[in-house]
Amino acid sequence: MTNRANLLSLKRLISFLDVELALSEFPHDESVNGLQIEGKGIIRKIGVAVDACEFVFEKALEKNIDFLVVHHGLIWGGIKSVRGVLKKRIKTLLDADISLYACHLPLDWHPQYGNNAQLLKLLSIKKMGEFGEYHGKRIGYWGRTSKEMSVKDFLLHIDDTLKTKSFSVNFGKKVKNVGVVSGGGWSAIYDAEEYGIDTFLTGEPSHSAYTLAEEMNVNLVFSGHYATETLGVKTVGDMLRKRFGLTVEFIDHPTGL
Ligand SMILES: [Zn+2]
Repeated sequence: MTNRANLLSLKRLISFLDVELALSEFPHDESVNGLQIEGKGIIRKIGVAVDACEFVFEKALEKNIDFLVVHHGLIWGGIKSVRGVLKKRIKTLLDADISLYACHLPLDWHPQYGNNAQLLKLLSIKKMGEFGEYHGKRIGYWGRTSKEMSVKDFLLHIDDTLKTKSFSVNFGKKVKNVGVVSGGGWSAIYDAEEYGIDTFLTGEPSHSAYTLAEEMNVNLVFSGHYATETLGVKTVGDMLRKRFGLTVEFIDHPTGL
């Protein structure tokens, strides 16, 4: 449905997103998901980004964005005090009257818009099922590559399609059954044996994963926390553009980590 006047109320957009992104699936997420900072009541332009930070807010202001959707928001677990960096960030948003909407674990898990589902799609890995328990719920997926390949070729494929620089620990198996958990999802390695995973792909390297992977004989691939978490917000942006006929911009701020 396209709004002809290309005007959208904040209230309508929030109610739509809360349901569409299935926020209620993760009542115990440390991130306060949904609207974190309330800005102007009418939305004309939307921005999407991975991280809520000053760089992104300044860009949003420059681009006349009214509503920002991010994966990593500003409020985690609650607010104890508003000072320092947090004060500056909140002040920038309030002064600019820009809303901030956060979607953390629901956007890793979401079967349609989520980072992990989109990673599988981008890498042409056939989705087989959920994988990677995190705080009591599986947020990743595992799938099969169309053909068996070496870890080296798999890395080239990822770096080429995701525009990143991956790092791997190769325990000798060929790549076929891949478990994927975006960002800092290393602890999903515990599930690798149960799902018959030969290769585990996540964002950030973790020393703790090494010996577990060694003993399970699972290859580790780290493709960057940022790079593996750009797809969710971009997909949400595409969906909002189509649904509401508004301009949506992705604000890129790669960390290289
Ligand atoms: Zn993350």
